Amino acid sequence: MQTQRLYYEDSYIKEFKTKAISCEKRDGFYAVILDKTAFFPEGGGQKSDSGYIGDVFVFEVLEENGEIIHKTKEPVNEGEEYFCKINWDLRFSRMQNHSGEHIVSGLVHKKYGFDNVGFHMDEEYVTIDFNGELTREQLDEIEDEANEAIYRNIDFKIYFPDEKELKNLDYRSKLDLTEDVRIVEILGVDVCACCAPHVKKSGEIGVIKLLDFTKHRGGVRVVMKAGSLALKDYREKYKNALGISNLLSVKQHDIFTATEKFYNDLGDERRKFYEYRLSVANRDKENLKDINGSLVLITDGYDMDMMREVVNFGAEKTEKYSAVFSGDDRNGYSFVIASKTQDMNELKNEISQKLNGRGGGRDGMIQGKSVTTKQDIINFFKEV
Ligand SMILES: [Zn+2]
Repeated sequence: MQTQRLYYEDSYIKEFKTKAISCEKRDGFYAVILDKTAFFPEGGGQKSDSGYIGDVFVFEVLEENGEIIHKTKEPVNEGEEYFCKINWDLRFSRMQNHSGEHIVSGLVHKKYGFDNVGFHMDEEYVTIDFNGELTREQLDEIEDEANEAIYRNIDFKIYFPDEKELKNLDYRSKLDLTEDVRIVEILGVDVCACCAPHVKKSGEIGVIKLLDFTKHRGGVRVVMKAGSLALKDYREKYKNALGISNLLSVKQHDIFTATEKFYNDLGDERRKFYEYRLSVANRDKENLKDINGSLVLITDGYDMDMMREVVNFGAEKTEKYSAVFSGDDRNGYSFVIASKTQDMNELKNEISQKLNGRGGGRDGMIQGKSVTTKQDIINFFKEV
């Protein structure tokens, strides 16, 4: 016996009473068949509904050999009447987005002749793949027209034409079906074969926003949000825009220009600071002290760039080690040591033993940290 599909009769049924026909234990779940159901099984790019049969949670619904299977973790009693409830907020958001997708795909098809060749819808956003390229300006126009179709509050007409009617019907479809083809017609905008629940009037979609788009297999992939998803997106972006506008003390519509300027200014400051640090390092090259043939600078406030600059300079002037230690006796020292002639692996071991240091590196240069004192560093180079 086939389950009566309430979602075809009325896509707005959120709650209903029905009898459980069968409940079969399967691997990791129960497969429940109901006398009638408003639970939409997966199809047409739209995920299945979830909800409750009595107190039993339905986590997935699918169609299997013409039967609608409600997957549950707990069993229900065969033959018993149940009050059922679908997760309506999620379903309605999907209806808004799926119906919105039909409007956009229909308009693109009408205007440019491109087909929707891929449709993905999840809790966050929708993507539509078109088999032709579109520019931002063209997408903006489509977005305007799609929203105008919402303002006009157009009827969605849903019907199952017979074979003869179907032959004469010009409609979008991914499948070449001839039987039980369910047509979703948005008057004056689109005619398309689809098995999913839709809104009754376009006004219920609320708003359609086309977001990012990327080139995809010779066409474009467009990210879309409609209805409550679009509102949520706007709310989130508003919060971000407000935060940045307060931070930079500019109007919200100027945050890009202001951020770009801030970023460029920061780059200039960084460049200036880098040049300043190098000038300090260049000056300090003269302060390298000869300790038993090694050239050593013990200083504070140096970063890696500065240390390397001085060490490279020193390495050209000595047969032994060129070293910079930056820090103080209380907090320890960062160091960079280089040599054109000496075995750095051996030095690494000695630093670890005598200067309580850890370091690594290659190509005749090591760098690391050492918990030691200025005097111990001087003694170390006297002996090494
Ligand atoms: Zn559809």
